[in-house]
This record gives sequence, C-alpha cells and structure tokens, in this order.
Amino acid sequence: MNAIAEFSQEERQVLSDMVRRFIESEVAPHYEQWERDEIMPRGIWNKLGEAGFLCADIPVEYGGAGGNFDMCMLLNEEFIRPGYGSLGGNMGVHSDIVAPYILNHGTEEQKQHYLPKMVSGDCVGAIAMTEPGAGSDLQGVRTTAKKDGDEWVINGSKTFITNGQHAGMVITVARTDPDAPGSRGLSLFLVDTDKPGFSRGRNLEKLGLHAADTSELFYEDVRVPESALLGELNKGFIILMTELPRERLSLAVGAVAAMQGALGMTADYVNERQAFGAPLSKLQNTRFRMADMQTEYRLNRAFINECMELFNTGALDAPTASMAKLATTEAQCRVVDGCLQLFGGYGYMKEYPISRMYADARIQRIYGGTSEIMRELVARAVLDG
Ligand SMILES: Cc1cc2nc3c(=O)[nH]c(=O)nc-3n(C[C@H](O)[C@H](O)[C@H](O)COP(=O)(O)OP(=O)(O)OC[C@H]3O[C@@H](n4cnc5c(N)ncnc54)[C@H](O)[C@@H]3O)c2cc1C
Repeated sequence: MNAIAEFSQEERQVLSDMVRRFIESEVAPHYEQWERDEIMPRGIWNKLGEAGFLCADIPVEYGGAGGNFDMCMLLNEEFIRPGYGSLGGNMGVHSDIVAPYILNHGTEEQKQHYLPKMVSGDCVGAIAMTEPGAGSDLQGVRTTAKKDGDEWVINGSKTFITNGQHAGMVITVARTDPDAPGSRGLSLFLVDTDKPGFSRGRNLEKLGLHAADTSELFYEDVRVPESALLGELNKGFIILMTELPRERLSLAVGAVAAMQGALGMTADYVNERQAFGAPLSKLQNTRFRMADMQTEYRLNRAFINECMELFNTGALDAPTASMAKLATTEAQCRVVDGCLQLFGGYGYMKEYPISRMYADARIQRIYGGTSEIMRELVARAVLDG
C-alpha cells in the first residue's frame, strides 16, 4: 500500500496551514526565550498533542489520528523549515522514533498503556542508547538489567539523551546477557521516569539546538516489571537496526527542510540588502552561490522523495537510509554555511534565524549515527556484498 497516495495535496495544505497558525501563536513569540532558557516549557507538549501534531501515524485504536509516515514528515518539515529545529528535533524523537518502537515491537498492553498518552503529550518519550563509553559502538553498553524474581533491576548511566528532562518514559538499552559477545546480549526496557532509583542529570549545554533538552540519565537499582521488556529478550540490537532506516530518513527529511528554509530566507535577504548601489542579488557571486545551493537542495530533495516512496512500500534498506542521512546532512551544513555567508555580519547575529540554523545544523552529522558510520555502512553494502 502506498501511504503517500492517501494523503492528498489538499490535506497537506490544510495540515501545513494548521502548523503555521500554531507556530505564529504558540511558538514564534516564545522561541527565543526558550533558547535562552535552554529548555521548552513542559506544557508545549500538551499543546502539540491537543493540536494533533504528535505521533500522527499512530492508529486510531491507540488514540492517534491514524495518519501515515508522509504526514509525520510534513509535520517535521513545517517546524524545521522556518528554523524551529529544537522543537522539530524533540518532536521527531518522540513521534518518529519512540512511538514507532512501541507500535512495531510492543505488546498490546504496552501499546494501550503508552501510545494514547504519547499522542496527547501527557507522556514525553525518549530513547537512551548512548553512554559515556558507548556512542557509535554500542558494544560498549555497560548499563545492565538483571532478573530478580519477576522484576528486572537496571543499573548504569546514559548521556546525550534528547527529551531527557521532560521524558515520562525512556526506552533504555541495557545488557541482559553479560556472556553474549558484543551487541548480542542487549535488550530494551520501557522505563517510567517516576521509578525509584531513576534520576536525571544535568540539562547539557550545547553548541546549538539550545531549546532542546539533552540530558544525562542515571539508573540505580531501578526495578521494572517483566512487562517492561520491549520486544524479545537479548534481541535489542536487532530491534534498533530494524528501526534505524526510519530514524535516519526522518533526520534526512529535516535536513532538506532546513536547506529549503535557509535558501528562502537568504533569497529574501539578498534581494533587499544593498551594496555598491544595487541589491546583493545582482552580484555574480551571489547569483552563482544561490544557483549552486538551490541545485544541491533539489538533488537532495529528489533523493529523499525516492526514499520516502521506498519506505512507504517497506523497501527502504539500511544502506540507502544511511546514504540519505549522509548526503542530506552534509549538504545541509554546506548550504546553511553558504547562506550565512551571504548575510555577512548580520548572519552571525542571534536575531537573524540563519545564525540559529547554522548552529542547529552541526549536530545532524553526528547524532543518529555519524557521517563516518554512515560511510562505513554504505561501503559495506557496496564492497562487501
Ligand atoms: C544533541 C545530541 C542529542 C542526542 N540524542 C541522543 C538520544 O536521544 N539518544 C541516544 O541514545 N543518543 C543521543 N545522542 C548521542 C549520539 O547519537 C552520539 O553522540 C553519536 O552516535 C556518536 O557517538 P559518540 O558521541 O560517542 O562519538 P564516538 O562514537 O566516540 O565517535 C567519535 C568520532 O569517531 C568516529 N568513529 C567512531 N567509530 C568509527 C568507525 N568505525 N569508523 C570511522 N570513524 C568512527 C565518529 O564518526 C566520530 O567522528 C545525542 C547526541 C547529541 C550531541
């Protein structure tokens, strides 16, 4: 079934207009303050839920709108294109990573319990893989879950966790078989953040995405019931691998949206700003740079459209998703840098959104798998058969 066909141009327009109105009233007037506060207010999640912007593809029986992936990506783009990357990124983790894990791998009880409150914004979702000694290489995971009667006892720590401060539930990667080699003995647990022994560390200070909370998390004898296990025991790594194409594609979609937004802002600016008696847009350098960057954007957009079609037919493989993340996020950083250059000194000022887009772009080449790891995955498919 091709989900894109079910989401008409008219419906897309209605949804885009709803998001624009929401941004005008609920986001734009406050966003700079949130960036200064280095966190958004918890209440924004409920407002997003009321507006129907969270977990848009969750089926109706779990409280969702029963939409599709295309709808989720449209929402992703509408928040990221105008430069609200912190909000778009945090929503992406909640709606496009955490909720699908539960939908695709959870028991009926887990879906009934978590999905309706994720749709409403009553429960914010996070996923905790990374640890101080385990980032690109998840073989280094030290957090453990040990069976004690009919409970699991979790000990360890995580870092760099998006939504860490606001999360009500964290999908936690823990080692359940200490004897299994590498990444084999890992399992996933749905950990409610009100459990005794769970604590949040600092809200980490970052180069960009200031309004997005990113945290250390600590687990000290956190007891969860058997029913908190997500998917099969010791199959955590396989589940992570299964879900990565969607995660990488959604980061890639955000990258093209950011490029598009930056190019639009820059076109407006260079048509206005005067130098040597004419708008900057009359200078050959400006014209050629804009032409090159627009071409780079369009090439990436075309590839993303292909990947969306593949995803919607269940045919997006891991190497292709890695190529999409690699190509688009590297292009995003080049294009946003080129756009900032055309703003001159104003581009470096915080009051111009292009400066924020520049700072926000940098992480795209690191999280969700670094560009180097993407190259490695693509190379394996190309060279090792
Ligand atoms: C803002 C932010 C939000 C994040 N959100 C989350 C989250 O919600 N949940 C979560 O679990 N994690 C999250 N992360 C963590 C993120 O996914 C990791 O930072 C990332 O995977 C890289 O791991 P690392 O930082 O340990 O770097 P390392 O793995 O130590 O890598 C350091 C360098 O070595 C390179 N390298 C490593 N291995 C290879 C290799 N085999 N070949 C070539 N080069 C290699 C890397 O590409 C990189 O350049 C977040 C990080 C940030 C900064």
